[in-house]
Amino acid sequence: MDPEQLRQYLSFYQDLGFTSLYRRERKEAAPQELEEQAAMPILPVVPPLAPEGETLEQIRADIGDCRRCRLHEARHSIVFGSGNEQAKVVFVGEGPGADEDAQGLPFVGRAGQLLTQMIEGTAKREGIPLLRRDVYICNVVKCRPPENRTPEPDEMEICGQFLFRQLVAIHPKAICALGATAARALLGRKEGVTRLRGNWYKWRDIPLMVTYHPSYLLRPYNQDAKREAWEDLKKVLHFVYD
Ligand code: SF4
Repeated sequence: MDPEQLRQYLSFYQDLGFTSLYRRERKEAAPQELEEQAAMPILPVVPPLAPEGETLEQIRADIGDCRRCRLHEARHSIVFGSGNEQAKVVFVGEGPGADEDAQGLPFVGRAGQLLTQMIEGTAKREGIPLLRRDVYICNVVKCRPPENRTPEPDEMEICGQFLFRQLVAIHPKAICALGATAARALLGRKEGVTRLRGNWYKWRDIPLMVTYHPSYLLRPYNQDAKREAWEDLKKVLHFVYD
């Protein structure tokens, strides 16, 4: 790693809120090993991205007035997430839309209203006492992509670190990925939702279900998808609350 790469590396982690790094000590070694070691680059050891015991408040403070990716240019608000910090289930969408950008809250537009209906309606029908405020809802990227385009891979990678830290801080019993972008960010899989939905996967040690994004379900010709999304949600709620 050359000095410029190292400088960029360190400033990236500094932006994420880390203030100290350490280097591995080299062990006593035979002369030949010493020569080999001298030829090897010394890599910094970075701390884990989610320091133990980190709270959502600390993660939000780390984000600050973030300009780490180009999505900051057109945003009005950083949409961090909302809901219960000790939620048993976290819903992850793609990114804020116009309403969310204006209000600074996730899923408050038409798709958000549908998500609320889905969560509360399914829970009620299944006899589970659950309201939207009992779950946690957030997105892969925290700033609205222009014209609601899909976030670029580098934007997802940079902002996704905050999502991962949120998930580690909450440590829910299950995650529900809404749409292909959330599935890609959390599972690294590029298949469409139709192929992935309805099955359990894992993000680290947490069971994860993929289903359709509510904005896809708002299209009038997607009645079958709506039924499938309700089935997926039923599975998630029973897994978490039974
Ligand atoms: S999308 Fe995320 S990384 Fe990019 S500017 Fe917004 S908060 Fe920062």
